[in-house]
This record gives sequence, C-alpha cells and structure tokens, in this order.
Amino acid sequence: MQKPLKPFLMKNDPSTKIFDLLQFGEFGDVNPSVCDSATFTFMQATTMLDTFHGETEGCFLYSRHWNPSNKYLADALSAMEGTESAWVTASGMAAITCAILQICNSGDHIVSSVTTYGGSFAFLNNYLKKFNIDVTFVDITKLDEVKKAIRPNTRIIYTETMTNPLLQISDIPSLAKIADENHLKLVVDNTFTPMIVAPAQLGAHVVVYSMTKFINGKNDCVAGAICASNEFVNALSNVNDGTAMLLGPALDPLRSSSILKNLHTLHIRMKQHSKNADYLARKFKNYGIEINYPGLKEHKGHHKLTEMMNPEFGYGGLIAIDMYTVEKAFKLMEMMEKAGVGYLAVSLGYFKTLFSNSGKSTSSEVPIEIQREMGLSEGLVRFSVGLDNDIENTWQKIKSCLEQMG
Ligand SMILES: *Cc1c(COP(=O)(O)O)cnc(C)c1O
Repeated sequence: MQKPLKPFLMKNDPSTKIFDLLQFGEFGDVNPSVCDSATFTFMQATTMLDTFHGETEGCFLYSRHWNPSNKYLADALSAMEGTESAWVTASGMAAITCAILQICNSGDHIVSSVTTYGGSFAFLNNYLKKFNIDVTFVDITKLDEVKKAIRPNTRIIYTETMTNPLLQISDIPSLAKIADENHLKLVVDNTFTPMIVAPAQLGAHVVVYSMTKFINGKNDCVAGAICASNEFVNALSNVNDGTAMLLGPALDPLRSSSILKNLHTLHIRMKQHSKNADYLARKFKNYGIEINYPGLKEHKGHHKLTEMMNPEFGYGGLIAIDMYTVEKAFKLMEMMEKAGVGYLAVSLGYFKTLFSNSGKSTSSEVPIEIQREMGLSEGLVRFSVGLDNDIENTWQKIKSCLEQMG
C-alpha cells in the first residue's frame, strides 16, 4: 500500500458506501423483500445445469449456496469493506473456520496473533491438529517475530484489528506487506472495529466478522461474514470443493434481512459506543484505575490506530480495567449489575453495557500460563460500553461501586 492511508480511507468512507447502494424489494418496498425459500425453480433444465457449473448470472439454485436475502446483506458488507464480494455465515466462528480451511491444506502452517478471541484460539491451537496444520503464535505487534515465524509451508497470517481482550492494535499495512512478500494471505478479524477500520483497504486479503456483535448490535442472533475478492468467495461457494458450500453454515435469510436493517444504523451506533467508551476510560483513569483503551495517548497502539482509522467513528466501544484479582473483579461486576450499569454477560456491541472477566470467560480456552505470558491479568474486566444517553450518570453508578469496594 503505497497510497497515503487517510485520504484513501476517507474516499472509501464505509457509511456512505452502504447508503450508495440501491436495494429495494420486488414491490418497491424500501427494505428488500425477504426470500424465505430453500430452493428455486428453473423453466429450462439446461439453465439449471449451467447454474450448477457456475456459468449463469443472477440465478439462484439452493439457499445453502446463495439466497437473495443473503446476497443483499453480502453486497452491503462488501460495499462497506470495499471488497469485491462477501459471503454471510451462521456465526462468526463459521466465517473464521471456513476462511481458514478454504486456504489451508493438511500439512500447512499458520502464523497467528496469540491474543485472539478464545474460540479462534481453540480452533487454531486444538482443532487444526486433526488436519496436521501447525500454528505458531506470536506477539502480533512485533513484526520481527511475525517474519521469523514464517516457514516455507506457511499460508496465513491471522490476526484481529483490535485484539481480544488486550485491545492491541495490529499494524495491518505492514502485516499485508509481509504477507505479500511471502505469498501468504493476511486474514483479519475486524469484529471490534467495523467502520473504524477497513482492513481490506489497508491490504488484508480476507476480512472476517462476527456479526453477532456491533454489526447486528441487538444480541438477538449469532451470525458472521467473510469479505474478500470475487475469486475467493466463488471458491468458498463452489459446489464441488467450496468450504462454505460443503460444510454448510449458511445464514438463515430471515436473519439476513433483519441484520441488513441494523447495518444501516451501524455508523451512528459506532460513534456513540466510541464516545461513551472514551468518556468512561478517562473517568477510570482519573480515578486511578489501571485502564486499557486505544483512544488514550498512552495506549501502545494509539498512534497506529490513529493512522489506520476512519476518525469520525472514534476508537471503539471496548475498554478493559485491571482489578488485579479474580475476587475483586467478580465482586465489582456483581455490584455494577445490581447498580444498573449493565449486564454481567459475555459478548459485545450490544446497546446496553456488557462486562465480563476475560480470563474466566471469553479467554478461558487460553491456558493460564499463556494468559500470563501475553499479559492478561486475572483481574481484567472487559467492558463493551453501551449506547447510554447519559454516560455521566452511568459513571456515577460505577464510581459508587468502586467506592464501596474500598
Ligand atoms: C464473538 C467473536 C467471534 C465469534 O463469533 P460468533 O458469532 O460467536 O461465532 C470471533 N471473533 C471475535 C473477535 C469475537 O468477538
């Protein structure tokens, strides 16, 4: 990527890209008509055969392959990311596992950030052994470590734009350069930072999402997406050997149509999540609590994220504080739930604030020794800050909990 980062990103402002799309239904309905059919008719048998061979345009065959409602959502997502194409899946894990299995064969090797979503870590560390696929885990912010880990059989560099739960920032342009020089694919999970960062615009080859989180934002379903080139998405959905087609984690079209409507408010929600998270981060800091938020100048990834981001959406809705012990973390979370700060629950990107102790929840798949090695404190409490209209009022509730903790 030789182009200057910021102007390039601004030109591809994801919020305007989605709104540029003209998608309406068969009756002129403002929301595209929902297509709840599993199969599709043909008037000519030869057209069906051609569709099986991938030789027709705009023909639908069977909904595990493609469905019009899924296509509307996929088109909106590829517009947002600036990729040629996208495929929507029944969960974020389906997006991640299908993307990886599409690229790797038995005997291949992956270089991955050690801090990733717990399910991704478990898949990379435990499950891929079945296929004799080796994974080297590195500190993804140390580019020398990444380079050193690459072997002749390496196929993927895997990371998250903002890693879970340490909120480290991946240098996507530099990782893309390393990937290109070594003929690898850079696969980036952008679940924490939709609209804030567009990884494909910075050189990532495949962008994966858990749409369960910010993109849908309602916590009423699990869903995922893979955004990539036409070639990659066609390969994924190929009837003979496509991983998504053959493993079959297609998203229910009724869900696709509801997620598409929520996608259209994502830009407003991201701004409010970021604004509230930034507010709480500064309050925690002034109170003397150890706080991790990429929007703070002292955060190690602050400068890098500032370079890569679309500034109007802020530094994201996630913050992490350190209570040092599990006992203190548990006590604070129970008190905050009772005080009405939000819910003690895993997941993120919901309109209400959610908090959990990462070491004992979403990162519990990561062995304790590795948790310590990567710097994950046992007392870490991760907050996904909600859309509260009066965040000062929320802070007052948190503050009174902290005061009662002593
Ligand atoms: C939740 C999450 C996933 C997994 O997504 P599901 O929709 O739960 O399958 C993957 N990556 C990240 C960063 C997540 O937060």
